Amino acid sequence: MTSVNRLRKVVIVGGGTAGWMTAAALGRFLTRDGQTSVTLVESEEIGTVGVGESTIPQINIFNRMLGLDENDFIRKTKATYKLAIEFVDWKAIGHSYHHPFGPYGIDMEAVSFHAYWLKLHAMGEDHDLGAYSLNTVGARLSKFIRPNGQANSPLGSIAYAFQFDAGLYAKYLRDYSEARGVVRQEGKIATVQQNPLNGHVASVTLESGQVVEGDLFIDCSGFRGLLIEQTLKAGYEDWSQWLLNDRAVAMPCALGGSTAPVTRATARSAGWQWRIPLQHRLGNGYAFSSAHISEDEATAFLLANLDGEPLAGPNLLKFTAGRRKKSWDKNVVAIGLSAGFMEPLESQSIHLIQVGISRLLAMFPDREFRQPDIDRYNRVMTFEYEKVRDFLILHYKATTRNDTPYWDYVREMPVPDYLAEKMAVFESYGRIFRENEELFNDTSWFAVMVGQGVVPKGYDPMVDVMSDDELRRRMAEIRSVIAKSAEVMPGHMEFIRANCDAMA
Ligand code: FAD
Repeated sequence: MTSVNRLRKVVIVGGGTAGWMTAAALGRFLTRDGQTSVTLVESEEIGTVGVGESTIPQINIFNRMLGLDENDFIRKTKATYKLAIEFVDWKAIGHSYHHPFGPYGIDMEAVSFHAYWLKLHAMGEDHDLGAYSLNTVGARLSKFIRPNGQANSPLGSIAYAFQFDAGLYAKYLRDYSEARGVVRQEGKIATVQQNPLNGHVASVTLESGQVVEGDLFIDCSGFRGLLIEQTLKAGYEDWSQWLLNDRAVAMPCALGGSTAPVTRATARSAGWQWRIPLQHRLGNGYAFSSAHISEDEATAFLLANLDGEPLAGPNLLKFTAGRRKKSWDKNVVAIGLSAGFMEPLESQSIHLIQVGISRLLAMFPDREFRQPDIDRYNRVMTFEYEKVRDFLILHYKATTRNDTPYWDYVREMPVPDYLAEKMAVFESYGRIFRENEELFNDTSWFAVMVGQGVVPKGYDPMVDVMSDDELRRRMAEIRSVIAKSAEVMPGHMEFIRANCDAMA
């Protein structure tokens, strides 16, 4: 038996990363019995943003959900591995730190490792925090290995992500989706038709005159938000008082310099520069505030600070940090840039696509589109975006930089209440709290708090139960285990050549 209200036609508008990730997930789970069709409309003439190449470990959940073969995925997208993000010049010019994907040390006697490290720090024995993180040590040594599953070893559960070519990723997922019944429709949408009774989107008409009808429309049309904004006027919440960057200039270049499994984020006078190593090239860009540096100056600065010959001209992108007030309205769900965008910092945007898809699958509608489910989806997505936003703001707020008006503004700006509370609690006894399932966990917040120079006034009193000598001994043991584990890891490129070389 099948519900009379089951969706018959799903239409995805847009074939960028968001569109093809959504298509792949629906191809995997929805089209199997042939009762629901999935059509993706995209326009080669409009194209995609063509950036978005650095991910976080949660992408492995998505890949597993699709049943992808990792070596094949890496070869076809010319990807590399990623163990951490390296932040250069954020706290102060000349200072750098890593935000690793895996944990620091190990919790002891029911107290977080972070508390023990803070005590050691307070004792003046300021051991490099990175020395307690296999991801950081591996990244510093340009090494990589996949987790070997071994219990009681840091090598057993290494957290990692990928850096891939955005264009190849969309193509890879397109092949996957089409093999599972998703139909691609080339063409530029000229008009959108709504049902006069309830305002739902009924169909889109291409410039060719072809009409594509649907029950559910997934708006993956990018910044323009063709359905969610231009048609349904869902509204946009502007967060640019905290996240000043409103432009990015991106430019790939030839390989050169480090091949460490990291994305590097280098703070600049009016924003920051990213460097993403792939197998065949480097992805680069400068995310900046147009109120503080002109587009021409930012482009010239980027060009002068590449590690290799440019492989294409500058790609200038304009955005406003924020999110759509409702990412699901009527029968339209916005996923990807159409739902919101903060900026590329911390590589969270592709993850937010993944969250949108998984929450949509969890709340999958029939043709009744019941409001409580839609409201719930919107509440969950609001939570996800706001918690990510606050984590990003921390990188700007907690800085000692005072070399330009840009850094002066962000250092002094008032921050959202949730972040203010997080910072106050950390400044008190160095504790981190994680609300519900917010994306960035204790390790991430700790790495960035410490990395940006937030210093707590004290440490968790529970750690005093362990004697100072015992503390020194155990901490030295952890450093030694991490260092020995890193020794057995092969070089990052050596690992790729042996397992998933795209250039062979
Ligand atoms: P787009 O790529 O813009 O795709 C929109 C699609 O809609 C296209 O196929 C277009 O042809 C189609 N379309 C639009 N209008 C019409 C129409 N009228 N008719 C037919 N088709 C239409 N994310 C990360 O996770 N990590 C990163 O490192 C990262 N870096 C970034 C750097 C920058 C500078 C920017 C701007 C973003 C970055 N992101 C990053 C975000 C990431 O790029 C996006 O989340 C991702 O690419 C998804 O984009 P999209 O598919 O929503 O939009």
